[in-house]
Amino acid sequence: MRPDSLLFHEDFRSAPYWWDAAPPETARAPLPDSVDVAIIGSGYCGLSAATEAAAHGARVAVLDAGEIGGGGSTRSGGMISSGQKLALTNAIQGVSPDRLVRLMHESMASFEYLKRIVADESLDADLQITGRFFGAYTPSHFEQLRRQGQLLRDKTGVTVHVIERDAQRAMIGSDYYYGGILVDEYGGLHTAKYHRALRELATRRGATLHSHAAAEHVERIAGNAADSTRFRVHTARGALDAQHVLVATNGYTGPLMPFFARRVLPVASYQIATEPLPEGLMHALNPGRRMISDSKRNLFYTRPSPDGTRMIFGSRPAIRELSERDAARLLYGKMLQLWPALRDVRITHAWKGYVAMTGDKLAHIGAHDGIHYALGCNGNGVALMSYLGHRVARKMLGVDRDAGAFSEGAFPLSGAGIASQLAVPLGSALYQLDDLWRGRVRAALS
Ligand SMILES: Cc1cc2nc3c(=O)[nH]c(=O)nc-3n(C[C@H](O)[C@H](O)[C@H](O)COP(=O)(O)OP(=O)(O)OC[C@H]3O[C@@H](n4cnc5c(N)ncnc54)[C@H](O)[C@@H]3O)c2cc1C
Repeated sequence: MRPDSLLFHEDFRSAPYWWDAAPPETARAPLPDSVDVAIIGSGYCGLSAATEAAAHGARVAVLDAGEIGGGGSTRSGGMISSGQKLALTNAIQGVSPDRLVRLMHESMASFEYLKRIVADESLDADLQITGRFFGAYTPSHFEQLRRQGQLLRDKTGVTVHVIERDAQRAMIGSDYYYGGILVDEYGGLHTAKYHRALRELATRRGATLHSHAAAEHVERIAGNAADSTRFRVHTARGALDAQHVLVATNGYTGPLMPFFARRVLPVASYQIATEPLPEGLMHALNPGRRMISDSKRNLFYTRPSPDGTRMIFGSRPAIRELSERDAARLLYGKMLQLWPALRDVRITHAWKGYVAMTGDKLAHIGAHDGIHYALGCNGNGVALMSYLGHRVARKMLGVDRDAGAFSEGAFPLSGAGIASQLAVPLGSALYQLDDLWRGRVRAALS
């Protein structure tokens, strides 16, 4: 085991690398007494909903339990894509062919939405379309990726290259995978800069943001007209009345409303960032500065920082939750499996964040008991949750009659409803066993 002094940079921080450039914000302005729309959660979803609702003239307040942007949105890997989660995982199992087409269409729309809002509003988000490589952990995964790549190309029109194992080293500087596929149109952004730009946009359009205002109870109250209902949202900093309430808490969904808590399973994912790499090393390992992930259950996902100087590497390294420092030691070992050449590079940042898993691996938007929601990124929400926030806002205000394919079908229970203490460790253990078993197949082949 490497001594900590060689592993951790002297300026090591248990915080996202992204926060160096754009930290989350404290916003302690008093809550308004009454708004049209109260949004619980200040991630991409909540802010996109706020931006859209404010553009339609609504008075909007965004509430967060912690700092504005302290949740998953500024902790992610920042990789963006369209439809890959549907085509490259078994999320589509049991989905009718018709609905699959609509889900794919919406996933593509989410990617286009993100690119459009960044361009139209000149958002400072370091958006870079550099392509994404999906590595095959075993030879059979390679065949599977080849098939899924075809589906992705057919359904979404992206350019998919099949990369044989002997061509892979030129692309990702590693022999770790059995080849893979490359999608040209995918890319990444700076998660925290994008968030900062969204909150500036929401504020410019008139929404107000309130940190340290955990929603503790949502009460239904009588409105002015005989047939109207309003809500009173009680928070850690007082109460406000709202005509509409949106729950946008994703992987940070707590016990506020049992209906949501039973449908969303928060799972931690961890990342590290390295110090700037020595001259030429990034070029040797990732000349195209591509996003990289793989076919394992507990997948590796890695990318260069947007300025191309550091490696950012993520996974779920253990069954149980870990401190950032302990996770960093394990992630470092995994990163070296992919790139032994990084062995003398130290870690400057380690952090974790919570993604929201759902029972059917799909995100859901809709309303329950009159309270709107957009939840369940399943680890793939930079574009999708931004998009679903804006869609749910339009539906809520009556701008659109239909909220699209992610609003169709029941929102099933997740493991959280069955045994919240056991579901995540059990699921992780099964995933690790599966990866371990496939690791033995790899060892036998090498
Ligand atoms: C480590 C990690 C890596 C990821 N990598 C990628 C990636 O590379 N690509 C990709 O597409 N997606 C990725 N994701 C997923 C993506 O980040 C999320 O899907 C997306 O940011 C979720 O946004 P959101 O607005 O729905 O929720 P969040 O940004 O998580 O915001 C939810 C907010 O709700 C607040 N909240 C909770 N309860 C309350 C309450 N009672 N009152 C008030 N506020 C409350 C929380 O404090 C939090 O700020 C990753 C996620 C993580 C954690």
